[in-house]
Amino acid sequence: MRIQNYINGQFVAPANGRYFDNVAPASGEVYGTIPESGSEDVNRAIEAAKKAFPLWSALTATQRSTHMLRVAQRIEERLDELAAAESKDNGKPLKLATRVDIPRARDNFAFYATAILHEASETHDMGAQGFNYTLRRPIGVVACISPWNLPLYLFTWKIAPALAAGNTVVAKPSEVTPATAYLLSQILDEVGFPAGVLNIVHGTGPAVGEPLVSHPEVPVISFTGGTATGARISQIAAPMFKKLSLELGGKNPNLIFADCDFEKMLRTTLQSSFANQGQICLCGSRILVERPLYDRFVAEFVQRVKTLQVGRPEDPATQVGAVVSKDHQAKILHYIQLAQEEGGTVQCGGHAVQVEGLEGGFYVAPTVITGLSMHCRTNQEEIFGPVVTIQAFDTVEEGLSLANATKYGLAATVWTQNLRRAHHVASEVHCGIVWVNNWLVRDLRTPFGGVKASGIGREGGFEALRFFTEPKNIYIDLG
Ligand code: NDP
Repeated sequence: MRIQNYINGQFVAPANGRYFDNVAPASGEVYGTIPESGSEDVNRAIEAAKKAFPLWSALTATQRSTHMLRVAQRIEERLDELAAAESKDNGKPLKLATRVDIPRARDNFAFYATAILHEASETHDMGAQGFNYTLRRPIGVVACISPWNLPLYLFTWKIAPALAAGNTVVAKPSEVTPATAYLLSQILDEVGFPAGVLNIVHGTGPAVGEPLVSHPEVPVISFTGGTATGARISQIAAPMFKKLSLELGGKNPNLIFADCDFEKMLRTTLQSSFANQGQICLCGSRILVERPLYDRFVAEFVQRVKTLQVGRPEDPATQVGAVVSKDHQAKILHYIQLAQEEGGTVQCGGHAVQVEGLEGGFYVAPTVITGLSMHCRTNQEEIFGPVVTIQAFDTVEEGLSLANATKYGLAATVWTQNLRRAHHVASEVHCGIVWVNNWLVRDLRTPFGGVKASGIGREGGFEALRFFTEPKNIYIDLG
């Protein structure tokens, strides 16, 4: 696949004419090329988005909705092809891309295309004196930058509300997984999406992402990715007073109490640990178990983890595919080594896996580590791979203090049948999202995001539409 930029409704080569290789994680083989774009391409895309803004923002909500629903429909029609491309580009099991990633990308467009039809502005009545009403207007050119773990899913999660609210967009997918963003540009072309409204520029973070977020005519940035990159973007944006939404890293705790529904908890914890090879920002990487259940949990969990099938992404029996790159595989293996140096015991996994016929692929066995303190690096730093640690706690307070003992605060799960305790723990755990007795149940209307080093701001539902618009309050005097 020879990927091209999509600027002003045209497929274009990067200005410097340079491309780099795209590698399939399952085999380690080069299978395509990616534009090595730079600031010239970014500037062209911003120009196109600026030019398209007056027209797009002047459309009625129904007109914008119609354009966006055509995109959703076309994603649905090309679902199998998109899922195959996502799985090849990222290494994730094909069935996961087919059941989750691509349907969710379609839903993101459909949800925001219809959400804008139900949005109402506010009035604050002051009786005989007068009243206020609040206009919510689109802002201008929005930068959307997304990571490689859920490529099209997270790319569309920001693009769709930005467009629905009436902004135009310059978007950059991760250079590691650009394939489905390119297919999305084909879809825009097929459905006749207005030129310049959504522009997609491919290339690296420093060469494309930085000029995009630094540009004075881009007042809004929606970024999902690592905490260090988020900090860098904040530094650039702050002196220019840009509006920022940052969805960053996590080190999420699962708080498991002895009275939980054991079978459901075990099944779900397997998922929350290793789905997408542990490369979901919402995966629970620190499993905290109440002492009376600890031994049973470790024994039965490890036994189940050992049965997980690591293999070829397109094989329907595969539960764990390849991690995204050779560098990422090396990083995960390095953390497993570090965990052992820190005194941890590897209960299972702990090594790379060779898949027959795909010897060049990047696979890591699902890994469970016990015996570590909460303050070691393994329990403090985001690994973002198929690696979890397990620790015991004795009281609710101790469980909470362990759960809250990292700089991150994205998500948590709580497993208990005790309603009072469930509410107490959910309210006291420091994070943006809590699931009680389940994991990753998503409702697109709910606020999504983290606290502390996991980010700033919320997306999802009307939160996203509020973020991508500027409120203006107008007072009318009746006196
Ligand atoms: P990165 O921060 O490395 O990259 C994210 C995006 O930012 C990529 O498109 C990247 O480009 C780009 N980028 C890199 N450097 C810059 C820069 N200086 N200026 C502007 N853009 C830049 O994260 P990863 O791709 O490694 O993704 C994994 C991270 O994402 C994890 O920390 C994970 O927790 C987090 N994440 C958070 C989620 C949340 O909702 N909170 C959801 C999913 C993931 P390129 O890759 O092309 O260099």
